[in-house]
Amino acid sequence: MSSFPLSCPVESLPGYENVAAVDVLRLDKLHPLVSGNKWFKLKEYLALARTRRQTVLTFGGAFSNHIVATAAAAQLSGLACIGIIRGEETAQLSHTLLQAKEMGMQLFFISREAYRQKEIPPVIFQHYSPSALCIIPEGGYGAEGVAGARDILQQHPTNSYTHILLAVGTGTTLAGLTLAALPHQQVVGIVVLKNLHGLQKEINFFLPTEKQQQFRLLHDYHFGGYAKKNPQLFDFMNGFYRHTGVPTDFVYTGKAFFAADALLQAGWFPPGSKLLLVHTGGLQGNLSLPKGTLIFG
Ligand SMILES: *Cc1c(COP(=O)(O)O)cnc(C)c1O
Repeated sequence: MSSFPLSCPVESLPGYENVAAVDVLRLDKLHPLVSGNKWFKLKEYLALARTRRQTVLTFGGAFSNHIVATAAAAQLSGLACIGIIRGEETAQLSHTLLQAKEMGMQLFFISREAYRQKEIPPVIFQHYSPSALCIIPEGGYGAEGVAGARDILQQHPTNSYTHILLAVGTGTTLAGLTLAALPHQQVVGIVVLKNLHGLQKEINFFLPTEKQQQFRLLHDYHFGGYAKKNPQLFDFMNGFYRHTGVPTDFVYTGKAFFAADALLQAGWFPPGSKLLLVHTGGLQGNLSLPKGTLIFG
């Protein structure tokens, strides 16, 4: 799938010169809807679906970056796709679901209970045999997702960085980055969900033993849990945009860069560190905020 230009620049961030060299890898610039890391997590699945001439099927919530990214990537790849959405259909679809639908995703709504079991509605099997479907786990989690995420560091020369920092949901992206990281590089994951203490083990499942010491998860920057937010977070995101020109989203990258800023200010990184922040995208999620919350659109 190379129907859109694969360009995601590295930009240097002003303001931290006294502490460390800090660059940001702008995966958010890859495509407005296929938010950066999601494209990498999807590409191996989509390649399989194309070879096998399958329809793509995946799962997500009403504001899911993964849903909208899958819809866009499938459309760009010429593949049909189905989204299984958590919860009842509402009279007014979210902007995320409207966009997904516009790009040709067929939406099916299932109860939260059925969603927990990742049940595929039987009506789908009236139209598709199981072998006609390429089922992508929620969030692109899984070995194919990890394999795709390994390529993120190949978009630019990244050998000189000592630390690579990113937001973590399922840990799929972090696992791929850790596999690709050189021995002198430490990967730092900012976990955006609360009480996700099984995560370390789940990530290790994708890594050989010698790689399992190469990443660290920090659990103190979730702001109360997944998609939880407060004025302090918005102030940071607005200030960060004003100083650096880099927009962030309130679910993932806002929290990750808040953490990076706090760690840099606290001298957490050893002298001489060179830090690469990975902007994983997700900006479409900000559309669910009241207008005027953020100074960027
Ligand atoms: C999905 C997502 C993540 C989390 O990626 P995982 O591989 O699930 O850890 C991070 N940032 C953004 C913007 C995302 O949309």
